[in-house]
Amino acid sequence: MPFSESIETPLQPLEHALFEHYKIQVWIKRDDLNHPTIQGNKWHKLRHNLEAAKKSNKTQLITFGGAYSNHIAATAAAGKMYGFETIGFIRGEELATCPQHWSHTLIEAQKKGMSLNFLSRAVYRQKSDAEFMTRLEKAYPNGYIIPEGGTNLKGVKGFKPLMQNLEKQCPEWTHLFCAVGTGGTLAGMIRYAQTSKTATNEKVILGVATLKNADYLRTQITELSQPTFAKQAINWQLLTQYCGDGYAKPDSKLLDLNTWFKTSFNIELDPIYTVKMVNGFLQELEKGTFPKGAKVILYHSGGLQGIAPNC
Ligand SMILES: *Cc1c(COP(=O)(O)O)cnc(C)c1O
Repeated sequence: MPFSESIETPLQPLEHALFEHYKIQVWIKRDDLNHPTIQGNKWHKLRHNLEAAKKSNKTQLITFGGAYSNHIAATAAAGKMYGFETIGFIRGEELATCPQHWSHTLIEAQKKGMSLNFLSRAVYRQKSDAEFMTRLEKAYPNGYIIPEGGTNLKGVKGFKPLMQNLEKQCPEWTHLFCAVGTGGTLAGMIRYAQTSKTATNEKVILGVATLKNADYLRTQITELSQPTFAKQAINWQLLTQYCGDGYAKPDSKLLDLNTWFKTSFNIELDPIYTVKMVNGFLQELEKGTFPKGAKVILYHSGGLQGIAPNC
């Protein structure tokens, strides 16, 4: 699939007595179906970065992530598919000496050819500091560096066709939910959502934070979501109260929710991101956030590679 491409995935209606009770309509945008190996929001974030790497004749992709990072999985897959060497800097030096504790994500990334380098949490925290970047650029002159989660301006720009497609599929949507890790996806949605002064319904994009203490992300989301042309800003919120126990650790309530969703709609959610997004949506529903007639879209950002059983 060429970098420029973004296939139009289905916007699938979800029917349930609960939604009828609250008199709202709900759809799920199936971006878990958008690419065979670089699934969901990760494809949007990588496309323009891969293009830039090719254009500048770089032969390696260098990036960062935790042991369960879908971005690490996506970058490893992209390297294999599009002919780049891949180098992953992984949080947690203790993993270096005990591969028996590696996640499915890390095992698969290595199988796809990614060379894994483990960093202590202290060093990992410096990964976007200027000094660290300079050292990295010197050490890897053929490397194209992609930040954690693929969240940079090129990453955010990859969401344009998705939002154009969504507006075409359901121009009258009122609420759009997405899961938030680094905030790149939310920023992309804000940047390219259509706003209209004549619309009777105000649109709002709701990002459900999956990490604890995510409030600091608002600055970066605001920066990355500013379009270069004058456009009326869309309303958006970052909901930080639905992150559960924190990253990569679904509690039993979320696991039950995952089962409920699968039973009700025959759609698989991932245990780190999309299940928390659905949880945030349901809690807001019970709080009475949505007016009658609201048209709610849940963005399925993929992440299904992470649920494969550990070997
Ligand atoms: C990475 C990821 C997210 C978070 O996206 P950000 O752009 O980092 O906020 C959400 N959902 C899934 C499935 C992901 O893999």
